[in-house]
Amino acid sequence: MVENVAMEFSPALDLVLGALERMRESGAHLPRASRDSLAQLRNQSIAAPVQPTRPTIDKAALLAPIQARVSICTRCPHLATSRTQSVFGVGNPDAELMFIGEAPGADEDARGEPFVGRAGQLLTKIIETMGFARAEVYIANVLKCRPDMPRGSSGNRPPTPEEMQTCLPYLAEQIEIIRPKVLVALGATAVEGLLGTRAPMHAMRGRWHSHHETPLMITYHPSYLLRNQAPSEKRKVWEDMLLVLEELGRPISEKQRRYFT
Ligand code: URA
Repeated sequence: MVENVAMEFSPALDLVLGALERMRESGAHLPRASRDSLAQLRNQSIAAPVQPTRPTIDKAALLAPIQARVSICTRCPHLATSRTQSVFGVGNPDAELMFIGEAPGADEDARGEPFVGRAGQLLTKIIETMGFARAEVYIANVLKCRPDMPRGSSGNRPPTPEEMQTCLPYLAEQIEIIRPKVLVALGATAVEGLLGTRAPMHAMRGRWHSHHETPLMITYHPSYLLRNQAPSEKRKVWEDMLLVLEELGRPISEKQRRYFT
């Protein structure tokens, strides 16, 4: 007990010791401190180094100025004029799990939050089935602006290589601050953004890759699952997520294991 106190409050202990010693020398009767107990305290104080307290990093505060820069970004002038707003990312800045998608669609452009449309609802369901709340993980895109479409046409287009190269530094900063334990790339554009590789998804998914030493799982984009309703494809994504849970050391229930059997 004395040891712990001494470790934590070594500078304070020095002050107390000094005061006690002065009181003793001046002949004061109270408080009483024998020479032995003063020596014992002195030894504890010298033996105990001051423990540096680990600084807690306020990741939200580090992300805020990047989000502010993204909100007024005009690096792609055509997207800066076509977007309703940029879509930075959402979730827990201390997340151990981070999902990366392609780019905002119409719903995300309107709401300013990634993955809130149909594909987003499916992603949220996957996250929750994994045992996380959506707010516990972090979700971001390679591109922070909705890729513009010719006037009058609906739908989405993938980002161009130039748009990706221009916007990727923002994602790199987000990952650097959040430092998740595991990254999940959703679809080919996310893979290209993170690894600079264009390869068929079936060859990349379901096994571990690495992004600057952070384990990276590659899986199909939720919108692929919306287009292709085959249970076999859903099962593949779920198997990839089970690998993610294992890597994170999260408990996996029997129900989760058997989800698609
Ligand atoms: N698809 C994406 O890749 N990102 C979104 O935010 C929404 C749909």
